[in-house]
Amino acid sequence: MDDRTLIYDPESFLLELENKTQEHIEDYMGKRTEEWVARGNDGKAIRSSSLGTCIRQAYYNYFHERKSDNITDLTILKRMYSGFINEETQSKYLLRMPGKLHGVESEEQNQFPIHLKTKDKIVCTATTDFVKEFTYRDQPYYIPMELKSTELWKWDDFKFHPYHLKQILLWVYYAKEKLKLNVPYAILLYTKRSTMANKYVVIPCDTRFDKLGREIQRYEYWLPYIKDTVNTVTKCIKKVELPDRPTDVPKYICQSCSFLEMCNKNENIKQNT
Ligand code: SF4
Repeated sequence: MDDRTLIYDPESFLLELENKTQEHIEDYMGKRTEEWVARGNDGKAIRSSSLGTCIRQAYYNYFHERKSDNITDLTILKRMYSGFINEETQSKYLLRMPGKLHGVESEEQNQFPIHLKTKDKIVCTATTDFVKEFTYRDQPYYIPMELKSTELWKWDDFKFHPYHLKQILLWVYYAKEKLKLNVPYAILLYTKRSTMANKYVVIPCDTRFDKLGREIQRYEYWLPYIKDTVNTVTKCIKKVELPDRPTDVPKYICQSCSFLEMCNKNENIKQNT
């Protein structure tokens, strides 16, 4: 659009702005998707992002090639974009704290300690957003953080979504039980987009923590459940047996699940997949 039009026609100015906004968001999200696809080089694995959401989805995902959903809806793209911008902003605060921060650069998303990979026959992986690393008495200590941004109108009453908690608990489970890392606690952090107010869920593991007014979910409490979830999906994969459809997956997640049709028919994967 030429300068003369932009000088004399406010409507053209606004349309140009809208176009450039869309162009920027599509470029940004396109690059993120390319990185995400390039990172999926673990081969067959049970991924925490799936397992935290739905055991059956994790099962289907294990046998299917990892593909990105081609999202073209600008409203959805904008929401995802603002989530990434929130992470970039939060990293600036976290960088001001002592300790080493992992997860700022995108290539770290496929590296230890952001990305954990078990050495089991059936590989399990877990990825979190940031990990703060501290050294004490020559020992490394890792504090994982899962970040979510939201625009919930019931913000005051909101505590956490169980599947977000499960996602970070899986990272802790692999870190502690499989890789024997020191994880004193983990943090699930929600940020309200409009005000940038934060809500925290603290997951104490190797440290005692009790504080009135803080949302606390103990690792020890959740451990049997997480262990059982991992064992069940692993057993189902070994036997190529479809896990029962869970009853606690929110409808909106099923609606955007690429296995919805198969799942509705209780269809198992083809044996030669
Ligand atoms: S449709 Fe829902 S229940 Fe079925 S696999 Fe997908 S997320 Fe799980």
